[in-house]
Amino acid sequence: MAIRCPTCNRSSDEIKFIGEFCEECIANRIKDTVPDKAKIYVCRFCNRIKSGGTFRKLDKDTLAVALKKDLGANGFRVDVIHYHNGAASLEFECDYENAKVHFTKLVDIKTVIENCIDCTRMKSGYYEALVQLRGDGYLVERMAIKLTKYVEANGAFISKTEKEGTGIDMYISNKKLVSAFFMLYRLKPKRSYTLYGMKHGKELYRNIYALRL
Ligand SMILES: [Zn+2]
Ligand SMILES: [Zn+2]
Repeated sequence: MAIRCPTCNRSSDEIKFIGEFCEECIANRIKDTVPDKAKIYVCRFCNRIKSGGTFRKLDKDTLAVALKKDLGANGFRVDVIHYHNGAASLEFECDYENAKVHFTKLVDIKTVIENCIDCTRMKSGYYEALVQLRGDGYLVERMAIKLTKYVEANGAFISKTEKEGTGIDMYISNKKLVSAFFMLYRLKPKRSYTLYGMKHGKELYRNIYALRL
């Protein structure tokens, strides 16, 4: 026997019901509990978005993670359908009385400009490793390009580069990455260390790698 939705009077012959209400009225009711405004945090220098506790490249996936958190939409699956000029069209899905409820909602987005940790470090000349490339000018140049590509492809950065005759000094933000690079290419630079500070009672060292080419 057909039943009628107490809210919109539609019949269960026309539309799926969840309990005593039609699925559209249920979806609308849940939709009203989701805020229609959200904030995102974007770095002024690299334009990455704060998403899942760190700054990442802005795309539909990272935006969805950021918006879900800011909207407090914990029980939902959130997908970005479209994003343009301070508004996003979002698809929500949640479980309700053993059924899946879907709806789309347009959310206004306010962008808050921040400085991400990587850009802040880069601006202040932060580095953990100094790589001193020496020897043949052509080989030094090639190695510097290779190392730069590797460092940047892995999310770190070169703080500063200085020419020393035919040699190059490179100040790099991540020393683990520099070690990994030398391992990868089976290079054996001379290593030394300088103490540059303390953090939580631990001594912090900068690694210096001198490589002859
Ligand atoms: Zn209804
Ligand atoms: Zn940044």
